[in-house]
Amino acid sequence: MKESNVGTIGVLTSGGDAPGMNAAIRAVTRAGIYHGLMVYGIHKGYDGLLNGNMKEMTLRSVGDIIQRGGTVLQTARSAEFATEEGVNRGISMAGVFGIDALVVIGGDGSFRGARDLARQGMKVVCIPGTIDNDIACTDYTIGYDTAMNTVLDAIDKIRDTAYSHERCSVMEVMGRNAGWIAVNCGIAGGAEAVIIPEHEFDIDKDIILPIIEGRNRGKKNYLVIVAEGIGRVEEIARYIEDKTDIITRETILGHIQRGGSPTMTDRVMASRMGVYAVELLKNGKYNRVVASRGGKITDYDIDEALNMKKTIDEELINIGKILAL
Ligand code: ATP
Repeated sequence: MKESNVGTIGVLTSGGDAPGMNAAIRAVTRAGIYHGLMVYGIHKGYDGLLNGNMKEMTLRSVGDIIQRGGTVLQTARSAEFATEEGVNRGISMAGVFGIDALVVIGGDGSFRGARDLARQGMKVVCIPGTIDNDIACTDYTIGYDTAMNTVLDAIDKIRDTAYSHERCSVMEVMGRNAGWIAVNCGIAGGAEAVIIPEHEFDIDKDIILPIIEGRNRGKKNYLVIVAEGIGRVEEIARYIEDKTDIITRETILGHIQRGGSPTMTDRVMASRMGVYAVELLKNGKYNRVVASRGGKITDYDIDEALNMKKTIDEELINIGKILAL
């Protein structure tokens, strides 16, 4: 491995917040200091880079954060940064602070920003941090496990009341245009039907039929999970009521899914990815996206990573259907 000439790095969180981002910030900071680097924490994502909103991190400034949800560096969506002038200003501001390389924790929008910086000569490493698990090059994104456990906890609670009243529940879960949270929580929560953006659906065949068949087999309550990318939960709930005469209640879980203390999996993955990101920089490897493949941490070229397409795991969908019987 070639030795790097990186002496000072910046770390930022960008896009939607995700539980475990703090564990990643902590890992980048501590691994950076361990390897003799100076580390700046950049506040509010790319907006903070543009405005020089950053301060030096110490071992202690990341103490007592591994267990906290959200991001202590805060995050933002910066329209100004997503322009040529914005990117150039970001590069100049990094120069003012002597930052040689940047670690960006966020989703694919944030990675596009990092790619633009890389094209202008900045050294970058990206860490996937989003509850949606919608980044193609990696099996896992930081925050995904915590979000799914939050959804599952809500499903279990709603199931108690649905059982007591013999109702149907329609629940909208997050995931943007990806159905990963929906599919996994459908299996873990025992849903009758899971509707995701990756698949076309027919409401009669995919929702009404399994509910009626379930009722005929003696089921007393029903759960339909609808991914955020589909939406229309109220319309779906009214349709179920009309077609089945089963009282149906809809729930949009919303931002509760983004909060909370990160699970063990998220903390460990964030720690592994954060340390790996710093090691890449130390070893002179830039413009990479850190990824988890088959349980191992690895990395991809940023352009290659952004051009990859993620497909949903059909095996998981099939398991959900078999077990909904
Ligand atoms: P999540 O999907 O979890 O919300 P994300 O990183 O995809 O995370 P975005 O809002 O898409 O969230 O992107 C975050 C920021 O990254 C944007 O506010 C913008 O500053 C920058 N960004 C997004 N897309 C681009 C792009 N095409 N070019 C340059 N910068 C971009």
